[in-house]
Amino acid sequence: MALVTKIAAEKSFYYLACKQCKRKLAEEAGKFYCKNCNVTSDACNVVYMFAMRVEDGTGGMWLHVFGDLGTEILNKTAEDVKKIKDAGGDWQECFEQQKNKASNSA
Ligand SMILES: [Zn+2]
Repeated sequence: MALVTKIAAEKSFYYLACKQCKRKLAEEAGKFYCKNCNVTSDACNVVYMFAMRVEDGTGGMWLHVFGDLGTEILNKTAEDVKKIKDAGGDWQECFEQQKNKASNSA
């Protein structure tokens, strides 16, 4: 049995990904630029990327959480949490709620 003891999401918990190639986008003046596709777009995917610490009886380790695994852990999509953040809501609560819960992903 492993427990999530810490989630490092203070600075950033997601990245903006190209809808076509899934690579990281640069944000410029409200638009999104994909270097790979050489396309500027209004739309993008919001993808989870954060670290969490998982501990069991013998020790702990940091896991990097990416994409759908983050959705599974938080029961919310990265886009939902970003919306809460962008609206000035208590987005950190979404992560806090997951602490000290059993994790099957370790
Ligand atoms: Zn692309």
